[in-house]
Order: sequence, then structure tokens, then C-alpha cells
Amino acid sequence: MKTVDLSIVIPIYNEAAGLQALFARLYPALDKLASDLNIHYELIMIDDGSRDNSPSILREQFNQRPDVTRIILLAVNAGQHMAIKAGFERTRGSIVVTLDADLQNPPEEIYKLLAKMREGYDYVGGYRRERNDTAFRKYASRILNRIRERTTRIHMRDQGCMLRSYSRPIVDAINHSNEVNLYIPALAFIYARRPTDVEVEHEERAAGESKYPLSKLIRLNFDLMTGFSLMPLQFFSMLGMATAGISTAAFIFLAIRRMLYGADADGVFTLFSFTFMLLGVVLFGMGLLGEYIGRIYQQVQSRPRYLINAVLEQLD
Ligand code: UDP
Ligand code: MG
Repeated sequence: MKTVDLSIVIPIYNEAAGLQALFARLYPALDKLASDLNIHYELIMIDDGSRDNSPSILREQFNQRPDVTRIILLAVNAGQHMAIKAGFERTRGSIVVTLDADLQNPPEEIYKLLAKMREGYDYVGGYRRERNDTAFRKYASRILNRIRERTTRIHMRDQGCMLRSYSRPIVDAINHSNEVNLYIPALAFIYARRPTDVEVEHEERAAGESKYPLSKLIRLNFDLMTGFSLMPLQFFSMLGMATAGISTAAFIFLAIRRMLYGADADGVFTLFSFTFMLLGVVLFGMGLLGEYIGRIYQQVQSRPRYLINAVLEQLD
């Protein structure tokens, strides 16, 4: 079997509009990298059940460069991280690099990750020097990075940046993780001996639009939070204890007051608003419990998380 030093893994979901632009920059960048460093690479592209004609474009591209290209076509949309895992399971390189298909991660930046790997780091995450996304996405991700930093033991600069490089042992460990709700950059951190971050450029999406509507983005971040921290649940126990304490004190106070001054119906609305606020908190807590339980449920069902339609690769 041909030895492969570097595997590039790219998940693709409805990216037909931009794939040619991607190939036009990706292949020259990788060929140059391979000749500069004297290494062999493979490019694994996973179609995540696209409904546009990404699969046929990928088939065609496979025929153009069967020497380095491997294509996995998933039957149905499994989600970005599950698609990446489908790719990881078939990588052969001693180093694996992920990036997005929309050219937001410039392929010319891969050498920066490899340089760090050579210094002895086994997990190199990119962080975006200047992020080219909507203001909402930028601020939200800044806040979410901060929350993750405080509530989990995962430390990295930019959890949303998918331009990352993983050593073989880390990829193997991820492949052996059977979790249903995956967040690959965070999972990799758990297995990393020497992780680091490196600054990378970030461009505007070359074509098409983001594949993450708000609802999907929220799901993904719940995957991250519930997958790596129990803090959200513990926060509710703390809140519960504090509320119980305060209400007990309030009850004692009101009981004494009633004995001294008799019944009193003033301030009913304050009481109502306070009750509703508490109700909101309780509902949110229950929802949060649901998030964990739902994930436990899916894990227990242990259904196959993705379904392969076809694999295109050259036999060697
Ligand atoms: N993607 C995927 N499956 C999905 C959603 C996204 O494979 O269900 C891919 C998508 O094609 C792209 C990458 O994941 O290569 C990142 O998606 P996107 O650029 O839309 O995310 P954003 O940059 O808006 O966070
Ligand atoms: Mg993008």
C-alpha cells in the first residue's frame, strides 16, 4: 500500500456552487506542499448527503485526480462532524488536516499547521486572525468560546475554526469514540498530549451560503456543552438550593408578619412576576435536563450514525 503522510479531510454539504473554485485552489496548494516537503498526500472529501449536484461534481473530480482523491458519498445528511468522522475512519496519513469546503479556510495555510506539528505538537488548531462572518456570528462565537473555556477543561483559542491538524493517535482515538453527538475539535483536545494554536487567515465564503441556520448552530453548541461539561446541570442544583434557601427565609418572614399584622394581599403582582420568573427558570432547567437525556437516549439506541452510499478510491 502506498504510504501516505498527510490526509486532508473536507466535509461537503450542498456546496455545488463553490466546488470548482475550491478545487482550483486546493489541488495546486496541496501539490506544492507535497513537493516542497517531499510527502505524499491524500484528499478525502465526504459528501454529507447533499441535495444539489455536489456528488456528481465529486465523482467527476475523482476521475480527474484519482491518484490523490478519495470520495465518500453519504446517503443522508449526518452533520458536519459525523461526516468528518466518516472521513477520519478512512484516513491513512500520519497527520490529518480538516478544513471547510467553502474556502473560508485558505488551503495555502495548511503549511502553518504542519510546521507546528514538526515542532512536536500533536494537535494544532487554527484561530482566525480576522473572522469574515456576520457580526452576530462573531459575537456569539466569542461568548461561546468564553463559556466553554470557563465550564469545560477544553482549552483552545477558536473552537469554531475547522482548519486543524491532528496526529494519527488522536484520529485513532476519535475513531474509537462511540459518541453520537460529536464535536471533533473538543474531543481531539481530550486526547492531545501537546496541543497548540496557530493564527490563520479566514476568508469570506466563496459561494453559496452558510449551512448553519440558527437552530442548527444552537444544537451544535449544546453538543459541545453537554458533551464536555456537567456544569450546566450543576448550575441548576446550585440555583435550586439558593432559591429554596431564599424562599424559606421569605416564608418565615411572612409568617411572622402575618401573626403580628394579620393577612395582607398587597404586592400580589410582584409575587406573580417573581413566580413567573422562577417558572421560566424551572422550565429552562427542565429543557436542559432534556438535552442531556435526549443525548443519552440516542446513545442508548446506538443507531449507525451515518450511511455510506459509495466510496470512490483507487485500489493500490
Ligand atoms: N457541512 C456538512 N454537513 C452539514 C453542514 C455543513 O458537511 O450538515 C460542511 C459544509 O459543507 C462546510 C463545513 O461543513 O464545508 C462548514 O459549514 P459552513 O461553512 O456552512 O459553516 P459556517 O462557516 O457558516 O460556520
Ligand atoms: Mg463556512
